[in-house]
Amino acid sequence: MKDLLGGKGANLAEIAKIGIPVPPGFTITTEACAKFNQDKKLPESLVRDIPHAINRLGTMLSKKFGNTEEPLLVSVRSGAAVSMPGMMDTILNLGLNDKSVKALASSSNNERFAWDAYRRLINMFGNVVYGMNHHTFELALKKIKEAHKANSDTDLDAEALKEVVAEYKLIFKKHAKKPFPQNPLTQLQEAIVAVFNSWNNERAITYRSINNIKGLIGTAVNVQSMVFGNFGDSSGTGVAFTRDASTGEKIFYGEYLMNAQGEDVVAGIRTPKKIETLNSQLPKIYKQLIQIKDKLEKHYRDMQDIEFTIENNVLYILQTRSGKRTGNAAIKIAVDMVKEKLISKEEAVLRVSNELFEQVFHPQIDDKAKKNKKAIATGSNASPGAAVGAIVLTSEDAQALAKKNVKTILVREQTSPEDIGGMNVVEGILTSTGGMTSHAAVVARGMGTPCIVGCSALHIEDDAIVISGKKFPIGTSITLDGSTGEIYAEPLPLVEAKITDDINTFLSYADELRKKSKRVKEHPSSFAIRANADTPADARHALKWGAQGIGLCRTEHMFFGTERIRHFRELILASDSKGRSKALSKLLPMQRKDFFQIMSAMEKLPVTIRLLDPPLHEFLPQEESLQRDLAKELGIEPIQVAQRTQNLHEHNPMMGHRGCRLGITYPEIYDMQVQAITEAVIQCKKKGIDAKPEIMIPLVGTYQELEILRKRAEAIITSLSAKSRVSITCKIGTMIEIPRAAVKADEIAQHADFFSFGTNDLTQLTFGYSREDIASFLPYYLEADILTNDPFQTLDSAVAQLVTLGTEKGRSVNKGLSVGICGEHGGDPASIAIAYHAGLSYVSCSPFRIPIARLAIAQEIVRTSKQSQPRNTKKTQSTPVGAKRKNK
Ligand code: ADP
Ligand code: MG
Ligand code: MG
Repeated sequence: MKDLLGGKGANLAEIAKIGIPVPPGFTITTEACAKFNQDKKLPESLVRDIPHAINRLGTMLSKKFGNTEEPLLVSVRSGAAVSMPGMMDTILNLGLNDKSVKALASSSNNERFAWDAYRRLINMFGNVVYGMNHHTFELALKKIKEAHKANSDTDLDAEALKEVVAEYKLIFKKHAKKPFPQNPLTQLQEAIVAVFNSWNNERAITYRSINNIKGLIGTAVNVQSMVFGNFGDSSGTGVAFTRDASTGEKIFYGEYLMNAQGEDVVAGIRTPKKIETLNSQLPKIYKQLIQIKDKLEKHYRDMQDIEFTIENNVLYILQTRSGKRTGNAAIKIAVDMVKEKLISKEEAVLRVSNELFEQVFHPQIDDKAKKNKKAIATGSNASPGAAVGAIVLTSEDAQALAKKNVKTILVREQTSPEDIGGMNVVEGILTSTGGMTSHAAVVARGMGTPCIVGCSALHIEDDAIVISGKKFPIGTSITLDGSTGEIYAEPLPLVEAKITDDINTFLSYADELRKKSKRVKEHPSSFAIRANADTPADARHALKWGAQGIGLCRTEHMFFGTERIRHFRELILASDSKGRSKALSKLLPMQRKDFFQIMSAMEKLPVTIRLLDPPLHEFLPQEESLQRDLAKELGIEPIQVAQRTQNLHEHNPMMGHRGCRLGITYPEIYDMQVQAITEAVIQCKKKGIDAKPEIMIPLVGTYQELEILRKRAEAIITSLSAKSRVSITCKIGTMIEIPRAAVKADEIAQHADFFSFGTNDLTQLTFGYSREDIASFLPYYLEADILTNDPFQTLDSAVAQLVTLGTEKGRSVNKGLSVGICGEHGGDPASIAIAYHAGLSYVSCSPFRIPIARLAIAQEIVRTSKQSQPRNTKKTQSTPVGAKRKNK
């Protein structure tokens, strides 16, 4: 019932039912919040219901609101369907007033405690309901502390706290222009209004936008009877994870503080104790807590993040939810839970969001560089991965520098929800206080930002940080190792992440689900993942990641090497066909070698080689001095280079003389490339390698283009094959990247063995947006909701329609036509899902994104098969909400 009761409310109700000790309370629905937001006032029925609900609660506990013997005190807590830790406000101790505070003092037999609770209420209530600055209260407190020569809050006795309350009430009255409300029902109503309003406060809005949380109607409000962790030495409060949220290990992980209330642990003000210590302090409670954590995990079949409070040796659970975790932890927990038979492989695959999964491929500090470096300090390793950046001390500075593309590391004593904007743009976060469950730690893990907390050696000044007496001013580059907690005083080189056994096991689940799916079973080659790879090294990398072929090998990259570019320029500058042939004969062996190496690396897997695509001018130097050097090198006049460059100049190179248009007008170039490919295949075959080349002609718009180029290529292959007596089958196909080609795909398919949608150019040409220039207006378009996504990241629906249309038309004349996608979209989970449903044969993406594609496909298959079984009512836990990919 999360949508209606919010995650907190739904879970509290559910665990109360299975016998977990929860302080009684009730939940006001998210629908009431929506109604409130619409009407700008509390729904009448709600106003009527509240006193009844409170009375029921009081009866259960033999207490009463505002009573002078046994006063009922409650907390008013927000809680939306998706957890937004610390983003909205909570009020504790509500129900206290000038009379009931005395009752609490006598019933608790602790006058100091009662007045402390009261002053906290006035502070929280003033802050949350009347927007009063917390600092104003703190100042008043400080003055009274000074007058009483008290070092800390706990040094103040009951009499002093009475003074604090009196002072707080004055402050309240001054600001609110009315006295602190004495009627508990008034307090409650105003608090509910404030929690409803907090749904739309800036912090909450920013949090939802950063985490891409959409479609929620509002927050629920939980009104819950208070329990006190600040009752004395057999009381306390804490937070725990049923497994380690950072590594995923199956160990109970938690922190607590004795004699503390509410957010003291999370706020990171006092450094808390490890949960194991509780075993020696309150062994019975510890044992009970362990039993509860096991029960909760079994019940929810997921790692839980638990809040608990001990009041006078009695344990209460105040909250449970699926715990936020790092990518590595998410994978380990999913794999372990499959092994423990708690969840199925399908569920496991859905448990790890794409964003979290990407995290595990985060860079780490190069071991070699680390070897002779000494960390200047260490803290708790709160969120893994390494980060290098310049020190900043405020969220504002971080945001300002991010706009200038400066990489920064945010250093704070502790972070609070106001810092969210800055935390989202920094490379890493470092705090001097707080534990693994502090705000900084939890938020950073969710964002996938490396983070170190509780570094006690760290001291923060106005414009510098100080570690063991050494000063590092703002702007100094430092390195954080969020996996070990080490801090280095200089920028260190970072390297690729390590691939653990758990990652491989997890990916094997994904592959297994793909192979088992109906569609792939029927057409074994129907949903493959290929790589975009231009070099043998790329190819080997791709294989390691599980590529089933190369979907795009761009040959122009092969021309940019120092030696080669010279020959290529010679080719471009040649004044006749004889000159061109001479240059080409020098390029031929080089290309042949490249193709041979790539095809032998891929062995019998298909390799799609795209013939030359970019316009020729890209290969010529633009600067005059460089043109002169080139002329000298080639023994021609500088004016010849300048003139040729001028001739090749294009107003819109993206739509100019490129792709197959070059192939048609300068046939020698493609001839050479086809010859190199064919000869490389012959070499492979002679070595017993069953190479499977696929020649791909770019930028085709009319079938005639393909028809002509195909004929030429076939002639070369046939003649070389005959000469060498090696039989060669080489598919010849085309990219579909011009809208006309998609529309006329039935004509084109008559000359093509395969299609590969070049979705980058197809997007450019469908929108008429230049990919190079989109940055000048895209941010505005996204803000104004003209576009929901960057169409170059996620396939646009119109482009998707062209893909579907082209595929259908192509297959209408050429039934077995293999169709793929190459281009950035091939590695984007949402686009992969579209490709899957469009019936494509494969996606091709950069080697690094292959694991992401493997997971994305499996997830889509599981989701789709779930939808096609409407009677499956078994509830599965929702995936933890991962952070949206950062745009750094
Ligand atoms: P958040 O969503 O920010 O976690 P919560 O509603 O969980 O906010 O409240 C914050 C803290 O207040 C809790 O961690 C808990 O320690 C304390 N708290 C809330 N309700 C109660 C209660 N009924 N009794 C004691 N402490 C409470
Ligand atoms: Mg909470
Ligand atoms: Mg293209």
